[in-house]
Amino acid sequence: MRIGHGYDVHRLTPGRRLVLCGVEIPCELGLEGHSDADAAIHALMDALLGAAGLGDIGKLFPDTDERYLGISSLKLLDEVMALLRGKGFRLGNCDITIVAQAPRLSKYTETMRRTLAGHLLASPDRVNVKATTEEGLGEVSTKGIAAHAVALLEEPPRVKNL
Ligand code: MG
Repeated sequence: MRIGHGYDVHRLTPGRRLVLCGVEIPCELGLEGHSDADAAIHALMDALLGAAGLGDIGKLFPDTDERYLGISSLKLLDEVMALLRGKGFRLGNCDITIVAQAPRLSKYTETMRRTLAGHLLASPDRVNVKATTEEGLGEVSTKGIAAHAVALLEEPPRVKNL
């Protein structure tokens, strides 16, 4: 088993869609970024890559690359999963915490979980998504939305050196 952690934050801004875990949330503000700025999927991808020892999404999908302008982070997640499968890794489970003062996200977490499970090719019970506020005490969660993720990967069996 191998564990990885990811963290991301994006600023809330007018004139952008708000997409978290691939689910569009009705809101007058959205997240600023090169891709669709889905902070939750970005944190998840960093956790997956971290567990596999494969660096981070900044290295894999640089924000200077026009190919990733406005791209759905679900597509990036598909690429990360293909990379991991190619190396023989399987998802054990993952857990995401979205930190946002507003909007309230609890009614969307089940849809988020099922959306992610489809792209992770995993049963939904291996994927958990939760949301919290910071009781108005956090500058980051007031001006933006942050996300933490942890992921456990099952490692391919090692060939014994005799
Ligand atoms: Mg990001």
